[in-house]
Amino acid sequence: MLQTLMRAWQFQKLSLKKRLTIGIGAMFLPLILLGVGAFISFEGTIRSFESTDNATLEKLFPLANLEALIQQAPRSAEVCLSDRVQAECDRYRQLSQEIDQMFTTLLATPSDLPEQRVLIQAAQTAWQQSQSSYKKVITASSQRLTPEIIDSLEQSVQQSADSLDQLYKLMTHLQLADNLAQAKKVRQRVNLIIATMFGLGLGVAGLSGWAMARSILLPLNALKNGANRLGEGDLSHRINLPTTDEFGQLASTLNQMAARLEQSQVELRYSATMDGLTGVYNRQEFNRLLQAELERSQRYGHPCSLIMIDIDYFKKLNDTYGHPAGDEALRCFASLIKQQIRPADQIARYGGEEFSIILPETSNGDALYLAERLRQAIVAHTIQITQWQMVKITSSIGIAVFPNDADSASALISAADQALYIAKRSGRNRVSRYNTETTFIQ
Ligand code: GH3
Ligand code: MG
Ligand code: MG
Repeated sequence: MLQTLMRAWQFQKLSLKKRLTIGIGAMFLPLILLGVGAFISFEGTIRSFESTDNATLEKLFPLANLEALIQQAPRSAEVCLSDRVQAECDRYRQLSQEIDQMFTTLLATPSDLPEQRVLIQAAQTAWQQSQSSYKKVITASSQRLTPEIIDSLEQSVQQSADSLDQLYKLMTHLQLADNLAQAKKVRQRVNLIIATMFGLGLGVAGLSGWAMARSILLPLNALKNGANRLGEGDLSHRINLPTTDEFGQLASTLNQMAARLEQSQVELRYSATMDGLTGVYNRQEFNRLLQAELERSQRYGHPCSLIMIDIDYFKKLNDTYGHPAGDEALRCFASLIKQQIRPADQIARYGGEEFSIILPETSNGDALYLAERLRQAIVAHTIQITQWQMVKITSSIGIAVFPNDADSASALISAADQALYIAKRSGRNRVSRYNTETTFIQ
């Protein structure tokens, strides 16, 4: 799932520098999210408390106001009734109208608190009692303001104020309980937000860290394994990193280097084992091949024949047509021999114009047959040494067979050489078998 996401996002295709920047940036995410979460929670909490307090004030303010007005009323009433000061009477009337109006408004305001209505009504009733005492005195001009009347007036007013105060305290208490409950809720919400943000940030940081480590460690591992393989000499190994980032570039450089080394190794191996002029094995490789073939021959009990073949009077050809023509003759000669022998046979340039042919699992009779066929093919062939010049050459051939004629590689070479010497001494253009009578074919 995550890998699909990474593939879709092509994370691996980004450069290492970009991946590191993104990865490290994502690791800072918990801090950033935590900061943002804390800020949002803090702002929300402050705002929520502000609005609660405003609502509380809005509810409590009319009550406090009403209570204050009710407590002002007896003083105006007393001055009005005792001294008959018109201004105070007017003020009392205005106060009582205002108080009545406020009671009506408060009673009309809906409330979740059942006690609210009861207490307001009690305050209103007490207030109305004080009103009726006042009205009694003000309307009966004969009635004097006695201390009893003042007491009754003040008592009613006090009762009304007490009911309002009781309601005020009750509402304050309820509001405080509300505030506490809200604070608890807010604290839980803030904890949840911070925990979520932290968890989320931690998750994202962990995933990005994992993705980053993976995107670095996997190619690094492939590079390390590849470099080890190449270091151990396996130059055919190629590091498979399908990315274009710094690792991909490094892998491609290593692959190019390995390809160049492999190519030079092939060329080096070729020049170390092959003869540059004729394209057949060189003498050093011939020695190795012969040794290996004789060991196999010994292991399986099969004979192995060796042919030494030398061009007759090659010096004369060189002298007559020049050295480059001699080279061309050597190339054609080697190529002609290659066409005549079997795939299992191995031809090498032993030195100068002398070649050797290893014939695995070949007995004396078969070797003689092949050598004779070879000699005849050479005689029949015309070599084009320059654009206009053709020559015919002959060759002398010596044969020795392992293990009949020799028990080691050097002894077998020496035996075949002796046979060749006999062929030369007997007139050239002929095949000679070691230690036997020279075979004259022509
Ligand atoms: P024989 O019949 O006794 O073998 O006589 P020959 O002339 O072939 O033998 P000799 O050993 O006298 O001469 C061999 C010549 O082969 C001498 C040398 O210059 C020539 N030769 C050896 N290597 C090369 C080569 O790579 N290119 C050319 N063009 N000539 C070479
Ligand atoms: Mg020769
Ligand atoms: Mg020679």
